[in-house]
Amino acid sequence: MNPGQKIIVIGSGIGGLVSALVLAKHGYKVQVLEKNHQIGGSLQVFSRDRKVFDTGVHYVGGLDKGENLYRIFKYLGIYDDLKMKRLDEHAFDIIRLANGKTVSHGIGYQNFTEQLKASFPENAGDIDQIVHEIQIYCTYFPLYNIELESEINYVEHTEVLEVGAWEHLASLTDNEDLIKVILGSGPLYAGIKGVTPFYVVALILNSFIKGSYRFINGGSQIAKLLKKKISENGGEVLKRKEVTGANFSESGTIESVICSDGSEFSCDFVISNLHPKETINLLGRERFKTAYTNRVNALPNTIASFMVYLSLHENTLPYFNSNYYDYFTDNIWNEEFHFSEDWPQMTFTSAQVSKNTKEYAESVSVMCYLDFNEFKTWEDSVRTIVKEGTREEAYEAFKKACEERILARLEERFPGIRSKVKNCYSSTPVTYRDYVSTPNGSMYGIQKDFKHTHKTQINTKTHIPNLFLTGQNIIFHGILGATIGALVTSFNFVNNKQVIEKIKMYD
Ligand SMILES: Cc1cc2nc3c(=O)[nH]c(=O)nc-3n(C[C@H](O)[C@H](O)[C@H](O)COP(=O)(O)OP(=O)(O)OC[C@H]3O[C@@H](n4cnc5c(N)ncnc54)[C@H](O)[C@@H]3O)c2cc1C
Repeated sequence: MNPGQKIIVIGSGIGGLVSALVLAKHGYKVQVLEKNHQIGGSLQVFSRDRKVFDTGVHYVGGLDKGENLYRIFKYLGIYDDLKMKRLDEHAFDIIRLANGKTVSHGIGYQNFTEQLKASFPENAGDIDQIVHEIQIYCTYFPLYNIELESEINYVEHTEVLEVGAWEHLASLTDNEDLIKVILGSGPLYAGIKGVTPFYVVALILNSFIKGSYRFINGGSQIAKLLKKKISENGGEVLKRKEVTGANFSESGTIESVICSDGSEFSCDFVISNLHPKETINLLGRERFKTAYTNRVNALPNTIASFMVYLSLHENTLPYFNSNYYDYFTDNIWNEEFHFSEDWPQMTFTSAQVSKNTKEYAESVSVMCYLDFNEFKTWEDSVRTIVKEGTREEAYEAFKKACEERILARLEERFPGIRSKVKNCYSSTPVTYRDYVSTPNGSMYGIQKDFKHTHKTQINTKTHIPNLFLTGQNIIFHGILGATIGALVTSFNFVNNKQVIEKIKMYD
């Protein structure tokens, strides 16, 4: 592998863009091919009524000075141009359980611990122990701490991967409400009892405790800035280029990729930002070992979501600088994913930060879990800006029914909200499937399972010698997770020590 060689990146999600930029900075000729009209994958935004709505990123952690994502974004050269708003120091997240108990998560461990102790004074000792465990688990992941090696690490101590989140907390406290409050932001990783590992909770919660931010006028600015830097380093990001296949050499390497419009891009290497299952479908099952294909296809993916986007009348709802996780069932982490009578049993509500007004919320997004199978009738239809398919009235009617249910739940959080809503828009699991191509519209890709850790680990290398993988399925999901995953992908091409040393300069 030599600088100057040509690398095609399929997909412009954060993982694809960060991989491309690191490689472009090291002299590789990169071209990113994106099927949509807009780059960024889940970083995409859309606008209605002159308001911007985020589709897949509502807040991001690890962005306080000196923290992991801050340092990586500094190294990538995008941090200084990001327009962000730090969330409420005392309540970046507010968790309300079905019994009405409401507890805030604060930024910084002191705040975080104090908020918990104020709500559960009788469990002060348990809280200290839980917070300690969260921090200890984070030390097992060197790259997360911008290191290549550490004395204790998950490779040598695989037992840290094999601990269930709910189960571990239950061993540290008898107070079930305390467990529910700590795991209340579980929709950030689609937490499930008996499945989700404790390390996932530790890495994600820790990153948000270390600086949670919203993006003013949307997270798409991250993708735009990455694209700008890729161009400055001689690379290209092309939109409306849906990769549909590849030409292979006799020895089985990819010589070029082919797009739906007939265009062809020659390459020395390919990096796929797609879910591994989609990558296999795209390049041909026969190119991969059967055991690998079977394993990838059998892996469960995280649940999909139904999103409601509310465009509000001017100056009606004061801006709230927190995210609300409201539960309507005691069965948290085991909620109903189907459209039952009680759906939705959890709502995640976030306000968009606008550059127009600081005092009022212009728009609000609400996310709920929903199983793709509820929309199975429309599985075969595709509708995006590039592929203008249609869906019949029944689809719109079902969407309206879902919206109504969510608005009814929202009334409990914001009484009178309906009168403040100018227009209500929504997206379904099929919308996500169409726009980002995750299987069944899965939010975060492959579901991590503490009982099957090795099965859910996806290597960046594949059986096709010049094909590599990146994106949320590599290390973990989220902007931080997919960014770290992209570094791992780039280490197949560039000197990892050099990159880490450069990132470490930004403290
Ligand atoms: C509803 C929702 C809310 C979320 N909230 C947050 C949050 O608040 N904070 C946070 O950190 N994370 C959040 N996430 C997770 C985060 O957005 C994702 O983990 C991350 O953006 C995934 O990045 P990725 O690199 O895997 O690529 P993706 O975003 O999955 O992008 C893949 C790209 O590949 C393109 N593509 C697919 N097929 C082809 C093809 N054949 N040819 C060319 N291009 C193709 C797609 O169009 C897409 O642009 C959320 C996700 C969802 C769905």
